[in-house]
Amino acid sequence: MLIVQTILFIVVTIGSFYIAFKKFKEIYDNVNLGKPEHINSTLGFRLKSMLLVAFGQKKMFKITFPAFLHLAIYVAFLITQIELLEIIIDGFTAGHRRIFHLIHNIPALKFIYKFTIGSIEAISLLTFFVTIIFILRRTIFKIARFNKPEMKGWPAKDALLILAFELMLICFIFMMNGADRALQLQGNHHYIDTGGFVISKYLGASMANLPSGLLVFMERVGWWGHYIMVLVFLNYLPYSKHLHIMLAFPNTFFTRPEPKGEMHNMPTIMNEVKAMFDDSFKAPEVEGEMQFGAKDVFDLSWKSLLDAYTCTECGRCTDACPANQTGKKLSPRKIMMDTRDRMTEIAPAYKEQGAAFNDGKQLLGDYISKEELRACTTCNACVEECPVNISPLSIILELRRNMIMEEADAPAEWNAIFANLENNQAPWQFSPADRLKWTEELS
Ligand code: SF4
Ligand code: SF4
Repeated sequence: MLIVQTILFIVVTIGSFYIAFKKFKEIYDNVNLGKPEHINSTLGFRLKSMLLVAFGQKKMFKITFPAFLHLAIYVAFLITQIELLEIIIDGFTAGHRRIFHLIHNIPALKFIYKFTIGSIEAISLLTFFVTIIFILRRTIFKIARFNKPEMKGWPAKDALLILAFELMLICFIFMMNGADRALQLQGNHHYIDTGGFVISKYLGASMANLPSGLLVFMERVGWWGHYIMVLVFLNYLPYSKHLHIMLAFPNTFFTRPEPKGEMHNMPTIMNEVKAMFDDSFKAPEVEGEMQFGAKDVFDLSWKSLLDAYTCTECGRCTDACPANQTGKKLSPRKIMMDTRDRMTEIAPAYKEQGAAFNDGKQLLGDYISKEELRACTTCNACVEECPVNISPLSIILELRRNMIMEEADAPAEWNAIFANLENNQAPWQFSPADRLKWTEELS
């Protein structure tokens, strides 16, 4: 029986990790379909940004209450990996509490073990209640930012599904440790006496009179249940907004160092401007077809695509967006979701067909409307608010650049300004030669 269980464990583990690896690799490849972008920052800047923003959750604390709730879940996620490690060791070696077996004769290590598992139980109990609060916030209290139009359907289900996963993970932990403790109290030799942990000692005591066969069954259900949920979660991540659990780290590592909202100059345009001001300047020949801005996901940089996959759909950007607040159609969160959805949908076909790929649609217009793009005031509030350093504005600017420079699709007032800039090198309708005329009145 034990050998069957061990073989099953090995097969399930290797199979799940293989499937998950393939999916994560696919996302990595999708991000790399984006245009090159050089992130001009030092290693120190990158590490600091990752440690403060992703690991330290610095930006989360702008809104205190949800920050603490989120922190509880985050700490629980990190710390339960220790118990998971013991489950994996036990699974591969057909043992039970192998780590405890190894250290139980060394008092200091035994104390650390008990303290660690006890802390896992305490934080798991806290997380149980926090998860319920998160569910209530979405279902009963209907927090405004979770109920915007882009959150209907799958995004709402995804958020609730993951919260249900968390509740199940916690229940399985307590079932496993409670039944384990009850079996220890019954003197079952297979279950080494760890002494009671913070919560499960009470559960174990209350279950100590149950038949040992039932307790072993419960312990196994808890053990397998917790592990299977972890594997399901791992394979579910690539389809969920919870992918940010992993991608927040590389995304903050590659934070753009330049001031928020700074637009990248286009070398061809810069050369034209230089030629305007300096007759001797000869702009280099442009090779190939020129394209300004982005009309589809492959025209965006890899960093913008990584941003899209990292988006947690928290809606803090949309909440802060003045355009959204004043009832306009723009939601920076939707910009990120649309970009990720479009990428996910077309990447497989694009990888096969390359530049010949054409499904008759594009990000600009079919997914993100021109009305949304025009509503952006470039105020940077979305960039400032994002807890994982995402810039919806970069995507908006690239799409808008394409709309204006390739399609000449801008409001009439803007076109007048553009014409003036081109002809008069200023937004006004005066010749550059008349620029100092106002000084004549002073003399
Ligand atoms: S930069 Fe644009 S999208 Fe972002 S908050 Fe401001 S108006 Fe909204
Ligand atoms: S872009 Fe940032 S702030 Fe906006 S929904 Fe995504 S993670 Fe949240």
